[in-house]
Order: sequence, then C-alpha cells, then structure tokens
Amino acid sequence: MSEFAGKTALVTGASRGIGRAVARRLAAGGARVIVHYASNDDLAKETVAEIENAGGQAYAVKAAFEDGVDALFDGLRDDRLDIVVNNAAILGGVLNSVTPEQFDRVFAVNVRAPYFIIERALPLLNDGGRIINVSSAVVRIALPDVVYSMTKGALDTLGFTLAPILGPRGITVNTVSPGVTETDMNAWLREDHDGAAERSVTEVTALGRIGRPDDIAGAVALLARPEAGWITGHVLDATGGYFLG
Ligand code: NDP
Repeated sequence: MSEFAGKTALVTGASRGIGRAVARRLAAGGARVIVHYASNDDLAKETVAEIENAGGQAYAVKAAFEDGVDALFDGLRDDRLDIVVNNAAILGGVLNSVTPEQFDRVFAVNVRAPYFIIERALPLLNDGGRIINVSSAVVRIALPDVVYSMTKGALDTLGFTLAPILGPRGITVNTVSPGVTETDMNAWLREDHDGAAERSVTEVTALGRIGRPDDIAGAVALLARPEAGWITGHVLDATGGYFLG
C-alpha cells in the first residue's frame, strides 16, 4: 500500500491504543508519521520502533495538552503536513465526581488542544490536506461520563463548522466515532473475568464483538485516502454497529 507516499501525518495520542494503530496504518501506507504522546516515553518509542521495523518513517514528540500545544509544535521536524489526526483524549467522570479543575483539564485535552492544533497546523497543512478528529459514539448513546461526552459533542461540532471554512483549500475535515474498543481507556474489559461486561456490549453490537484499535485505524485511513477528497463535514460511525436498535 502506498496511498500515503510522500505525505506527512501528525497523530496525537499515538503512544498506545487507537492512536498507535492509526500511526502504524498511515505509516504502512507510506506516510512519515509524527507520533505525539503525553508522558509514556517508552510506549512512544515502541510505536516509532514498530513503524521503523516495518520499513516506515516516524518520530515522537512529547506534549501534555493541559499545558497547551506549544511543545508539540516546537518538536516538529517537518515544516509541511498533509494529515492531522486529533486522537488524544482523556476520560472525565460521573456527575458529582468532577471538580472544576478536572472539568477544565478534560476540556483542555479533548477540545482546546484539537482546536489550537488545527489553528497552528493550518499554515503548515498542504492544500488538499486531511483533518480527522476522533470523537465517540457517546455523542449518540447516553453514558454516565457526562464531561467526556460533552467534549466529544464539541469535537463533532468542530468538524462540521470547520469543513466549509477550509473547503476552498481542498482540506477536508471529518470525524471518526469509535464504539467500545480494546484499549487502556476500557480497563474494565480486562477486569471482566466472567465476560459479563463484554457481553453487554457485544449483544448490542451488530458485528458481535468489541472493537480493536486496527478497526478504527481502518476508518481513519479511509478518510485520509486520496479517494476521500469529496467527503467533508462527515461523522463516520466506526462502532461495528453499536446500539443500532
Ligand atoms: P488511550 O487511553 O489508550 O490513549 C490515550 C492517548 O492519549 C495516549 O497516547 C496518551 O499519551 C495520550 N494522552 C493522554 N493524556 C494526554 C494529555 N494530557 N495530553 C496529551 N495527550 C494525552 O486512548 P484510546 O486509544 O482508547 O482512545 C483514542 C481516542 O479514541 C480518544 O479520542 C477516545 O476518546 C476515542 N475513543 C475511544 C474509545 C474506546 O473505547 N477506547 C471509544 C470511543 C472513542 P501517553 O501514553 O503518553 O499517556
């Protein structure tokens, strides 16, 4: 696969989980990948090593988005970008458990950072580029983590409203919404020794299993491909058909 040959992709939150799978997938398609992470130096190195061992190109940049996005842009070795994937995010908490400081932190990482990453990336982003934000099915399914869900609603709105603004440059802005996916964010799945929690998800999932990071990477790659140039302002459900009714 060489659909991304000659392209440079920035993937936030690529030290593990979905972001790592996205980074690997874009690199497998020939992209040079900037692997962003917050604190897990070893895991970020692992992502870079996996890509390089497979013959791809990547380097890591550390930035905790509570502190803004300057560290990310200071760490870039590339002066041009083609694909920006806003994937990094953190969970919030249930009602009555989140302090105002925690609330601000979740919004800083999940909403403020993608907004300013896009703003800072735009002068570097080639015309015809791709912006892909990773949202969540929590936007259509009410789950108890209200604050996290609110941030994903904001991200959906960000994609929808930016698309017409960036359209004249041929830049598309799309959103991928995963359902329950096997990552650290869902540690409860690993503690689910009798399988009851997993069944509660798979029974209401059309494709009958939990999502894997590579499933989501596939959806991101679809929107990043040259053939997707006519798709913008779209929210792509990548849940395996979760809660379709
Ligand atoms: P993980 O928790 O597995 O990975 C989170 C990533 O974000 C890591 O690379 C982490 O870096 C980075 N990160 C964590 N905190 C910060 C911070 N403060 N500043 C900057 N980066 C940070 O997440 P997932 O792979 O599960 O999720 C990826 C995306 O998919 C998120 O947007 C999430 O909301 C969305 N999603 C996930 C679902 C799921 O079931 N897993 C379902 C629906 C949506 P480090 O390793 O250095 O901490």
